[in-house]
Amino acid sequence: MQSLHLAGLSPAELTEFVAGLGEPAYRARQIFAGLHHRRLRSFAAMTDVPKELRAKLSKQSTASTLALESRYLSSDGTRRYLMKTHDNFPVETVFIPEERRDTICFSSQSGCPLQCTFCLTAQLGLLRNLTAGEIVEQIIIALNDAYGVSVKTPRGTNLVGMGAGEPFLNFEALMKAIRIMKEPEGLHIVPRRVTVSTAGVVPRICELATIPDRPHLAVSLAAPTDELRNELMPINRKWPLSELLRACEDFQESLKPGERFTFEYVMLDGRNDADEQARQLANLLNRHELRAKVNLIPHNPAEPLPYQPSSMERVQTFREILESKGIRAFVRQPRGRDILAACGQLAARDANPAQTVSDFAPAKVESLAI
Ligand code: SAH
Repeated sequence: MQSLHLAGLSPAELTEFVAGLGEPAYRARQIFAGLHHRRLRSFAAMTDVPKELRAKLSKQSTASTLALESRYLSSDGTRRYLMKTHDNFPVETVFIPEERRDTICFSSQSGCPLQCTFCLTAQLGLLRNLTAGEIVEQIIIALNDAYGVSVKTPRGTNLVGMGAGEPFLNFEALMKAIRIMKEPEGLHIVPRRVTVSTAGVVPRICELATIPDRPHLAVSLAAPTDELRNELMPINRKWPLSELLRACEDFQESLKPGERFTFEYVMLDGRNDADEQARQLANLLNRHELRAKVNLIPHNPAEPLPYQPSSMERVQTFREILESKGIRAFVRQPRGRDILAACGQLAARDANPAQTVSDFAPAKVESLAI
């Protein structure tokens, strides 16, 4: 059995646990800072905590549960981490360096139960939900690798819940992780730096709208009609576009000034990228009076997915049609495609160039232990 993972406890829970060991509350604060502010992954490294207490902690709990298996470096600087849970399930995290700030893309589940036909993660099926501690530790591992253990991050960190899994099918653990990460005495990544992406779990969109200190929302659309969306994203059969967009209207009502809200639209060559489909999409969003922006994501190909990315000209034309109908649309540049780190490519695979599409440069592969 897995012993208690302390990185998944809130400050109050940690205080209670430490009190159970007969220790005062300030020890809990020290341990919390050790785990989250200094990003230490062993009790041995917490030299400000007495040795006897560290020994007691080790008997009953653990500071770290994820084991880093491999790390892949993309030619564009993106890093993909392939990790294993204590019970041997794969977890993937992606670090994306950007000019102004860095973005970490985390996973909410090992595998994914949704069967989006354009996404490689779907092929794993759901292996299991990740715990809050496993979500938080992904960010700790990525930051330690990028900057060094305990080193202050030079700029802010954005988080996106767009890795493997459907975050809204693991809502409690997700929201707990987000609350732990916002602590000023810890990682101090506040919810407005976090974006969570859903394939359209309608009740959770409505629930998120009621939470005051919440992350941003992105909704994956991929198609402007139920007919096509049923085919590409089978979750649409449970929550069709009319229900999904009604929930988005509710969510829009709850937006604070300046708060963003996004639709994602993966661009699949010859499937969902025609002029007519751009007009349908614009009309649909306008009919629901949704003022969200649309991010167009050229499909990231991976064997054996039966799609190719739309050409850049097609993506641009699609964008222009949306814009001409008053919809703000942006084209997302793919990152980390060469190491299978881009959207929809996370499937616990070795980034063997033979598995990638041939016109991408081969990846550098390194194994390491952080
Ligand atoms: N389950 C959640 C989060 C994970 S997917 C969701 O569906 O939103 C994150 C984003 O990647 C989604 O917008 C999805 O549509 C997109 N995506 C999935 N596979 C892709 C692929 N092969 N190429 C480009 N984008 C993809």
